[in-house]
Amino acid sequence: MTLLDTIIDEWAGITFPRPVVALGGFKPTPGCYWCGAETQAEAVCTCMRERLHWSRVIRLGAYEEPLSDCILGGKYAAWKDMLEHLGALLGAKIRGCVPPNSILVPVPMPPIRRYFRRINHAGVIAKQASLTSGIPIRRALWRKECMPQASKSASARTLLPRNSILLRPLAMIKGKNAILVDDVLTTGRTLEVAANKLKNAQVASVRVAVLAVTKMS
Ligand SMILES: [Zn+2]
Repeated sequence: MTLLDTIIDEWAGITFPRPVVALGGFKPTPGCYWCGAETQAEAVCTCMRERLHWSRVIRLGAYEEPLSDCILGGKYAAWKDMLEHLGALLGAKIRGCVPPNSILVPVPMPPIRRYFRRINHAGVIAKQASLTSGIPIRRALWRKECMPQASKSASARTLLPRNSILLRPLAMIKGKNAILVDDVLTTGRTLEVAANKLKNAQVASVRVAVLAVTKMS
């Protein structure tokens, strides 16, 4: 049995607590302005020497408990209340740190996976973030079927083909400040492919807003 099956089994049939209760005393923590990683006080992040595909990462926290459990429950057990709650928290963080003429662009999910998961997590997060922040959603991207990222190793993830994410016809995003919305930033490969598609469509800038950023050891 895979890890994912175990997680889904554990969640099957349980009644979810209220999101605030499940999150315990969780408080959002800022990471590195550019890459979203945990930063040491007053140290310059190592990403300074890297080529990033966005100008900023806005996040709620590091990918660790209780936030990580809450995100997994949202994705794999279709815990919509939780995703909406986290989306609202993210929306409050986004508001005030993005320029005018911004749009939220949810990272798209392949249709078959969406059917089996019963929930489009990035879509739910973006919708609630939009309601809280007042920034409109533009579903400018769509995704072809391919292997789910979560079932791959980190090295296989970096091979996500460039054409797996595509621009919708009539996306009308030229000149907009795009904020890509997703649940977790791990290798950044999905967000990189998505960001490049938006840049090809001549957006003015690309930022990233995620619930959590995986800690690099
Ligand atoms: Zn950094």
